[in-house]
Amino acid sequence: MKYGRTYNFSAGPAMMPEPVLEEIAAEMMNYRGSGMCVMEMSHRSKVFQQIRDEAEADLRKLMGIPDNYKVLFIQGGGTVQFAMVAMNLMKNGVGCYVETGAWSKKAIAEAKKYGEVKIVASSADRNFSYIPDCSDLDIPENADYVYICENETINGTTYFNLPNTKGKVLVSDQSSMFLSRPCDVSKYGLIWGGVQKNVGPAGMAVVIIREDLIREDLPKFVPTYMSYKTHADNDSLYNTPNCWAIYCCGKVFKYLLDNGGLEAMNARNEEKAKILYDFLDSSRLFTGAVRKEDRSLMNVPFVTPSKEQDADVVAASKAAGFDNLKGHKSVGGLRASIYNAMPKEGVEALVEFLKKYEAEHA
Ligand SMILES: *Cc1c(COP(=O)(O)O)cnc(C)c1O
Repeated sequence: MKYGRTYNFSAGPAMMPEPVLEEIAAEMMNYRGSGMCVMEMSHRSKVFQQIRDEAEADLRKLMGIPDNYKVLFIQGGGTVQFAMVAMNLMKNGVGCYVETGAWSKKAIAEAKKYGEVKIVASSADRNFSYIPDCSDLDIPENADYVYICENETINGTTYFNLPNTKGKVLVSDQSSMFLSRPCDVSKYGLIWGGVQKNVGPAGMAVVIIREDLIREDLPKFVPTYMSYKTHADNDSLYNTPNCWAIYCCGKVFKYLLDNGGLEAMNARNEEKAKILYDFLDSSRLFTGAVRKEDRSLMNVPFVTPSKEQDADVVAASKAAGFDNLKGHKSVGGLRASIYNAMPKEGVEALVEFLKKYEAEHA
């Protein structure tokens, strides 16, 4: 790795592509002759407007977003979306949620403040180690939407088939898998992703929402900023947006387009994840925590036979130059997050390290 950088396996904020960071560094002091850094620019300036518009256009191209969807850049990161989804989409006051782990639980807890929440499927019975069968859910007639966390960052599960929502609007938290594989946007009513997992700096979410779901008749208590309409009507420039994050995300969108788009990302991500999962499947010391068919390509949780040994591996990995392999405090164990920007060499180096540790300790 150049610049003395480390293989950073953090679940987020996470690694960004090195060529993107280099471009940002080169433009830091004077963005393309504007005489200023993007951080210093008016969000109403022509030069920033172009940065924003290009970011949206590139994302639309990358994901093939249909014209009847709006793309919004909203501050508050992922967590604000738990509330915004419920506040804006609960017309009848009923949201259906699939409970698959830490992040869907947070979404459920937040939605309960604004309406009725029906948990239509759950994998709580086996510690959220799988994705429940969502082919025949019991969805009430008056349900406003069906909500999923498409990749559970902490638990390490992902959907390879979307739920049968029986005609209801599908809402998906894609934070930790956003742009990791092709996505048919037309199957969703709303997709959102906090960008610090697989795209850019923390503090912003990208929201892709079908136009007919943007409402005017929201309850009075909904703050102006929390209405999707506010952002849609103002091209995400109602107030001062997170200009820096929009700029950095735009760079990543361009980088992905220049490097084969989402098909190519998916192929790379499958290859990377296979290296790690094949090792875990053959290991005598380490065990993957998730049912095989539901394994995330982005977040890979695994354990040794004991908590003490888990901690010992984490310490040894740090000493060997790997960062952030500790599992989330709520589940323990280890976790390697291997987003788009983690090079294959990083995963290979990690597996070499784990093999060596196993040979010395098993
Ligand atoms: C990180 C994460 C969030 C929360 O994002 P914040 O920006 O920290 O609020 C929500 N959902 C998923 C799936 C995440 O991985």
